[in-house]
Amino acid sequence: MFIGPRLLPNILAVLVAIAVAPVVLAAPARAAECPNKDALGTSRVLEVDPATYPRVGLKSFPQTLPLEDHEIVLTFDDGPTPGLTDKVLAALSAECVHATFFMVGRGAADHPDLVRKIARLGHTIGYHTWDHPHLNKLAPDAAEANIDSGISAVEKALHGTSSTTPTTPFFRFPYFESTPHLLDRLEKRGIAVFGADFWASDWNKMTPEEELKLLTGRLETVRKGILLLHDPRQQTADMLPAFLRYLREHNYRVVHIVPTAAKTVSAQTQ
Ligand SMILES: [Zn+2]
Repeated sequence: MFIGPRLLPNILAVLVAIAVAPVVLAAPARAAECPNKDALGTSRVLEVDPATYPRVGLKSFPQTLPLEDHEIVLTFDDGPTPGLTDKVLAALSAECVHATFFMVGRGAADHPDLVRKIARLGHTIGYHTWDHPHLNKLAPDAAEANIDSGISAVEKALHGTSSTTPTTPFFRFPYFESTPHLLDRLEKRGIAVFGADFWASDWNKMTPEEELKLLTGRLETVRKGILLLHDPRQQTADMLPAFLRYLREHNYRVVHIVPTAAKTVSAQTQ
């Protein structure tokens, strides 16, 4: 077909419109939710079904989440801690990104308002035992009881009633110290175990600038993955705004992990 000079601009206009259509369609949703037009933003939501992904995180397991190059999942352990967790939440909100918080039950019991605030802001809440013990040093029953106490405390903070059935079936072992028995138990209970693909080593004392340099250097190597940080660490709370800017400026995308819809519904009806 011959395309005349008068028709060509129209065809080009249509092609351009098709090419930019996903961007145009996506922009209003993000803009409506995020007052900061320059924000990093959450790029997509990934449903994680424990039946498909019983254990993820290459630091501990052979499998991890199906992330694309430059996709990051932000996870924070050991909170909630008033002040520092609030500062982390503010940094996340400023960039309109959603993260996952693996909470220690004792902290959740002490600060239920903060647990509910994290949920209200749309973040995912996972579980991280009652008081952060070395689970591999406990008798199996005691270890599972500690896991369940942690789940119960977070559920009580979230919903006002204790339950050992987690609203979100995501768990992380303190110190990544799993045992075959506990892994088997959690898998049978339909709870996914999260390791990590990389971390900032923020349990070591360093300045926020040093932590940022260490973390971005590692990110340049791994290029994607589940990132472990600790919201009760001052240096991490201080570093986070600059790290999120770095992600934005280097075209990284934040993926928000959530339970599968079926799992959420069943949890809500229990
Ligand atoms: Zn921890």
